[in-house]
Amino acid sequence: MTLLPIPAFTDNYIWLLHDDRQAMVVDPGQAQPVLQALHKRGLTLHSVLITHHHGDHIGGVSELLAAAPSAQVYAPSREAKHFNFLYEPVQPGQSLNVLGTTWRVLDVAAHTAGHVAYVGNPPGHEAPVLFCGDTLFSAGCGRLFEGTAADMQRALQQLAELPAHTLVCCAHEYTQSNVRFALGVEPHNPALQRHAEQVAARRAANLPTLPSQIGLELQINPFMRTAHATVQQAASARAGHPVAHATECLAVLREWKNQS
Ligand SMILES: [Zn+2]
Repeated sequence: MTLLPIPAFTDNYIWLLHDDRQAMVVDPGQAQPVLQALHKRGLTLHSVLITHHHGDHIGGVSELLAAAPSAQVYAPSREAKHFNFLYEPVQPGQSLNVLGTTWRVLDVAAHTAGHVAYVGNPPGHEAPVLFCGDTLFSAGCGRLFEGTAADMQRALQQLAELPAHTLVCCAHEYTQSNVRFALGVEPHNPALQRHAEQVAARRAANLPTLPSQIGLELQINPFMRTAHATVQQAASARAGHPVAHATECLAVLREWKNQS
């Protein structure tokens, strides 16, 4: 199985997984980049997985279905009112069988009220793969449009429990600006300093910084480190009062990032 990010819009990635014959894509906000990627490799579109209802994640679905009518679309049942295409509703806790892989549907509602993530072990692939939409970004997390800091804390904790080598397939190339923010929170974190250099080199070469890995995010992502003293100290300084609780810490960081 081959995993690759298809760039879309200015900084979105539509993830594509294929077995040299059939392909699944995740969150196709645009159809044309997907159709080109399929055509170039002689692939048939087998399935589409949707994490949440935002236009830059679903905008290409109808056009893809017009081009590949037999493709099956999976989307979160809790966001049904936003979808105008044919799809199979999925719920957290459920497992899907797509391209010979069992994908677990995770409840990561926070960025939107019905946001889901998909995690599975594709056969012949060296590591589990997580499609997390706009929940977890490398060195950052999604904005809280429909959920609370407590929701995001719970969602990220759930992702933190996945195996450390799980590949994290985020939906945006936000890493460089997230790393700048993270260095403001933890300027002396050596893993973060190393990562900042690698990210700068990859972006200078116009290469994606993704997928990341859960184990790396636990070392560098302040939103996954809200129980660490260094991060809580930075949040306390920002808030002007002691912050000693992970959820409050996440709330302070999210507000800080919104204003940065
Ligand atoms: Zn979104």
